[in-house]
Amino acid sequence: MTFQHFQFKPKLSFAIKRAGFQVPSPIQAKAIPPILEGRNVVGQAHTGTGKTAAFALPLLEKMSGDKAVETLVIVPTRELATQVSDEFYKFGRHLGIRSATIYGGVSYRSQIERTKSAQVIVATPGRLLDLLTGEKIHIQPRFVVLDEADEMLSMGFIEDIRNIFRFLEKREQTLMFSATIPEVVRELAHTLMEDPLYIRTERESLTTKQVKQFYYLVEEHERDRALIRLLETSSSGKSIVFCRTKKETERVADVLSGQGFSVVALHGDMDQYERTQIMKHFRRGGARILVATDVAARGIDVRGVERVINYHIPFDPESYVHRIGRTGRAQNKGVAMTLVTPHEFVELQRIQELTGSQLRFERIPRRRISGKEKVHQLREVLNTEKPTRETRHFLDTFLSKHPRFTREELLLRLLEKTLRSFEEEGAIGKTFEEMKKLSQSYEEEGSSAQARPQRGRRGRHHDSIPKPKLTKIGSSRIVPRKIFRK
Ligand code: ADP
Ligand code: MG
Repeated sequence: MTFQHFQFKPKLSFAIKRAGFQVPSPIQAKAIPPILEGRNVVGQAHTGTGKTAAFALPLLEKMSGDKAVETLVIVPTRELATQVSDEFYKFGRHLGIRSATIYGGVSYRSQIERTKSAQVIVATPGRLLDLLTGEKIHIQPRFVVLDEADEMLSMGFIEDIRNIFRFLEKREQTLMFSATIPEVVRELAHTLMEDPLYIRTERESLTTKQVKQFYYLVEEHERDRALIRLLETSSSGKSIVFCRTKKETERVADVLSGQGFSVVALHGDMDQYERTQIMKHFRRGGARILVATDVAARGIDVRGVERVINYHIPFDPESYVHRIGRTGRAQNKGVAMTLVTPHEFVELQRIQELTGSQLRFERIPRRRISGKEKVHQLREVLNTEKPTRETRHFLDTFLSKHPRFTREELLLRLLEKTLRSFEEEGAIGKTFEEMKKLSQSYEEEGSSAQARPQRGRRGRHHDSIPKPKLTKIGSSRIVPRKIFRK
């Protein structure tokens, strides 16, 4: 199937072609026809599967292009507002359709001005509700979209959304898009939408399958060194490093720039202008590494992000999915690396359970040490070590007992071992054997921990952390029963 199938207006088809879209993604193929027909649609598809175009394209097709605001899209964050608005601009500009954004943290006046010449408004809930209740804007959109609904609700916007909808009585069509459809989202859909059509797509998507996921076991104090080592080895493309807090973000960015990396930081406390500038810089390749918090990173869409590194494991599993969705975008491949301390083992397991992801253990790569450096270190050893009489005696006895070793052969082997130990000295993190041991002890002791739903699988060996039973829903995504009811 191609986009021609939908028989969009020539100007819209042209814009789609220019954007380089050839084949509709699964959610687009399923959602576009009923939206064109006027149905209220709830669409679920994973992050990075093209949900924006799934509603933007049919709405642009249907919009008359008249002066007033015809489409309102509500999104959870400022970044997403900009991104969705850009998408409307990309596809709508030849149709003469303009879009404007509304979000907090900037002055009211220019925002209000810009909505006056727009037909599409993309807004975050808080500021939008402010403007509506303060009667600062008067809009009566025909089409209303709630984008990333699960995220919006988990950010606590449910009341705002209910209140916003009081101002939207005249709407003709309501759409909702979300990476997951938990019960709260379903309930909201039922209160806001008449006879909604649910559309779901298979797990196979543009994202997770393309992202190789690894975890590394380190001690708390090794985190910085581990991160630096990961950034030093392999890949020279763009990387995003995720931290938990604004403070941590700033500190990690400082540490990295101190090591000579080109790095920028992004967090929720920055004003919009600053954030836009930073993203531009990163997008253009001015900085190779972006250090960010979850909130700031929501909706970041940058091509060519080769890997995502979780400096800290995220608080909640959905964030994990969103984070790794920043790499492996469109048709590219990506790598996701997560630093985990023995204490965080439980959290790692929860993430695997809830997202159905498989993270493979990998050891932090060793520092490559040059031949010259080895010679230098060996010389140090030779200068400082004075053989004792005992050692000489040991050598003689050993050689006479093991006639297959010549003196030279023995020397070579010991030398080999010494040189390798130089490499080991800079080692960071746990080895595969240590991980296995930890995994086993976790299996035994951990069975009493509350986060552990299954008992009594003692002494088994696992490459990755053992996973408890999951409920498989259709052939789609794997989620445990408690967060997803049919
Ligand atoms: P989601 O909202 O599902 O997380 P987005 O709408 O942000 O995903 O889309 C992810 C990326 O995929 C964007 O860069 C978008 O331009 C691109 N994309 C979307 N649909 C297609 C398509 N049919 N062909 C190629 N790229 C696409
Ligand atoms: Mg989206």
